[in-house]
Amino acid sequence: MSATACAHLSAISTVKGPAKRECSECVKIGSSWVHLRTCQECGVTLCCDNSPNRHATKHARASHHPVIASAEPGERWLYCYPHDAFAEY
Ligand SMILES: [Zn+2]
Ligand SMILES: [Zn+2]
Ligand SMILES: [Zn+2]
Repeated sequence: MSATACAHLSAISTVKGPAKRECSECVKIGSSWVHLRTCQECGVTLCCDNSPNRHATKHARASHHPVIASAEPGERWLYCYPHDAFAEY
């Protein structure tokens, strides 16, 4: 992982992947999503900001879980909300 000023990102040693390739909140309400993100605090997989419901961002704000990882195949990056910081891994 590249050097970063963000302690949230540098604290992550094992990146959590998606248990299922679906947004658990969109599934409940019968909605759809564009891309998926996995919360690195609790492991929930939710939809990105290009999706109509933006569940990953809502979850991060509501639960103060700072870091998500892309749950898209072939994408290997993390994002920290409070620091607006990206890191590849
Ligand atoms: Zn951070
Ligand atoms: Zn969603
Ligand atoms: Zn979480």
